[in-house]
Amino acid sequence: MAVFTLAQVDVSGVEPMSSSSSLDCSVLVLNRFYMAIRVVDVRRAMTLLYRGCAEVITIEDDQYINYDFENWCELSDLHSMEKQLGEDYIKTPTRELQVPRIVRLVLYDRVPKSTVRFNRKTLFARDSHRCQYCGQSRPMSQLSLDHVMPRSQGGKTTWENVVCSCVGCNSKKGGRTPTQAGMKLLSDPVRPSANPGITVTLKDPRYSSWKTFLASAGTIT
Ligand SMILES: [Zn+2]
Repeated sequence: MAVFTLAQVDVSGVEPMSSSSSLDCSVLVLNRFYMAIRVVDVRRAMTLLYRGCAEVITIEDDQYINYDFENWCELSDLHSMEKQLGEDYIKTPTRELQVPRIVRLVLYDRVPKSTVRFNRKTLFARDSHRCQYCGQSRPMSQLSLDHVMPRSQGGKTTWENVVCSCVGCNSKKGGRTPTQAGMKLLSDPVRPSANPGITVTLKDPRYSSWKTFLASAGTIT
């Protein structure tokens, strides 16, 4: 049985196995109660795993299978001999380690925050980067935050009063309410129930296993 030092699993400076970097993969983190709490990069996930702070979770035949670091190394050895499409690997000095998609914290019980921090990024994610007036999707640089009830008329900066707007619609609306400007919102803005950033990666089939944990958090769109 090989003995690992931290240096051997420290993947900084390690070459990824393919041109699209395996180190860029995202890993979903669950708390002890199997609730999704955040997304981390591979390096962070591997460190948690190696230190015994987390275990890998896979889903096979609708059952969760838990792997500690040693078990995951053994499984990686087996899998790396016959790699499947959709698997990613990182190379350590001693072996190829399969990139986990989901890890579960085993050491502490922090319950996830029920509130999502309000900022430009999370607000644009909630509205899927679509202007809530004309419905067009734009890159973040061409979007702005619009106060539905303008601040000049007492509108607050809250999830319920701010929407994603393209620059054109924003300047057309000016300091008026949608009714005053003759514009209509696609939908009423609401406070999201979980981090909207997590939904972005779900379009990638490699992360399909995340759905099990995110559906209950209300983040599937
Ligand atoms: Zn617009």
